[in-house]
Amino acid sequence: MSLIPEASCPRCAATLPILKVWGKAEKASRFPFLMQYKTGVACPTCGVRLVIVQWRVAVAALATCALGLAISVLAVIGIDKAFPKLTDDHPAVVGVPTMLFIAVIVILAFFVAPRFAQVRFAADDEEVDYPLSR
Ligand SMILES: [Zn+2]
Repeated sequence: MSLIPEASCPRCAATLPILKVWGKAEKASRFPFLMQYKTGVACPTCGVRLVIVQWRVAVAALATCALGLAISVLAVIGIDKAFPKLTDDHPAVVGVPTMLFIAVIVILAFFVAPRFAQVRFAADDEEVDYPLSR
């Protein structure tokens, strides 16, 4: 069981395959944590068509990245203060753990952030992309 459950169907409460949609959906060009505007998912149990609402995903991804950046900056300052001679002789010592840490945060943001997605009912005439039914 995950700490943050995926969104569930507002009609029948079944868990929605948001992460699967995430894997197949086209991403927003300017912000790869997000899917294209108006990406949808059909409930696997009752079939209702839903639109994925992503503003909480954006907030979660940005917060994760900001936290990762803050922690890595503090780590660099800490390493520099603890081992001033080492960082003077080998400046790359500071960069390597920072880059690894940022990579971990970016991966985390991609896999954790989609769990913050919410859904709403799609209107009958609304044009929505359903990546799983292509
Ligand atoms: Zn349902």
